[in-house]
Formats: sequence, structure tokens, C-alpha cells
Amino acid sequence: MAVISVLNPKGGSGKTTLTTNLAQALHLRGNKVLIVDSDPQGSARDWHAASEANPLPLVSLDRANNIKTLSSMTESYDHIVLDGAAKLEDIIAAAIKASDFILIPVQPSPYDIWAASDLVDFIKARQEVTDGSPQAAFVITRHIEGTRLGDDVRKALDEYELPVFRTAITQRQIYPQTASEGRTVLDGDNAKARDEINALADELIAMMP
Ligand code: ADP
Ligand code: MG
Repeated sequence: MAVISVLNPKGGSGKTTLTTNLAQALHLRGNKVLIVDSDPQGSARDWHAASEANPLPLVSLDRANNIKTLSSMTESYDHIVLDGAAKLEDIIAAAIKASDFILIPVQPSPYDIWAASDLVDFIKARQEVTDGSPQAAFVITRHIEGTRLGDDVRKALDEYELPVFRTAITQRQIYPQTASEGRTVLDGDNAKARDEINALADELIAMMP
């Protein structure tokens, strides 16, 4: 059982999109998956409520104290995927402590990557006292198809000395389209989007302890 958190205090970095799609990918592989919405804004909760047929359970734990109770749920699930909050340091700190693996979605712009600096410091401070747990890696999100990732982006990411997923999430209309119906791209008709989410899930499974 693993707690996988999708964290980045910056709004719009693609946390909720990544959380819901990844959770569904893990579910479709036969895992028992719980989504945790730790963002008081409740986007994942709204997404969940938009479909009556949503196969995944979701709980809202949007206080640091509640997130501490996650460890009591881990027995019942193969994976818990936590959607991170924005700018709420005690919630993010509690999520880091509760996590086995952290995905950090970032848009491919140096400004967005630099803005992740405090989060990376937080995660590394935790790793130092625990011998490396939680593992953490960047995921490039909202990449514009047909463009190359610039050297500025790679350089900015290299400085953090954390792994970067080979698979990037591309900016595609199918993401908000399926989200508005409480679904994911895995239920949609865009094969490229399905492939990238499945490739990301493969990479994650290979990297997890
Ligand atoms: P966060 O949870 O970090 O605030 P969201 O996942 O809510 O980020 O994404 C912010 C906005 O960008 C939403 O409107 C979402 O639908 C859109 N979005 C996120 N990822 C993509 C993508 N890969 N392609 C197109 N739109 C996206
Ligand atoms: Mg969100």
C-alpha cells in the first residue's frame, strides 16, 4: 500500500487533473484506490460529484490533523492518491509526512519551476530525517504538443536534483472536457491522452518502492 501525493502550492499546475487521471489508471489496473482531496477548494470533490457512475471512492481531508489519520486507512487500499492544496503550508507539510511518493506537477516554464523551490526544500528536509522517504519526482504538465522542452526548463529542473518523469502531460482539451463530466481521459476517445496517462502510471509503478 502506498500513499501517492500530488503536491505543488502553485494553483493551475495540474494537480487535480493528474490526481484524478492517475487514480483512474491505477483503478483500471485492478487496484483498490482511494482519492483524498486535501484542498479546501474541493476541486477533486466537485469532479467526483459530477458523475454518479464514478467508480472511485473519495474523501475530503482538508485539515492537517485529518491528514494524519491517513495512516489508519492504508490497510484498506492498494493506493491512496492525494490531491494537494494550494499555499497552505500545514496541509502540505502533513501530506509530505503521510506520503510514500510525491509527484510534483509543473508547467514547463522556469517561473513555475522556480516557484517549486520551497516545496522541494520541504520534501528534502523530510527525506533527510527518514533516509529518503518519501520519494519525489517532477511531472511536466500542460506541455504544448509539437514543441521541444527548452534548455531553460531542463536547467531549472536539474538544479533540484530530483528525478523527472520521462512522460509529460500534454495540454489537451480532452482533460477539462472529461473532468467536467466527472470522468478521466481514460474514459475518453483521445488515444494520445490515454497513452500518456498509462505511460505515466507505468513509470510510477516502476519507481515506487
Ligand atoms: P491545480 O489542481 O494544480 O490547480 P488543475 O488540474 O485544476 O490544477 O488545472 C488547472 C486548469 O488547467 C484546469 O482548468 C484544468 O482543466 C486545466 N488543465 C490541467 N491540465 C491540463 C491539460 N493537460 N490540458 C488541458 N488543460 C489542463
Ligand atoms: Mg486542484
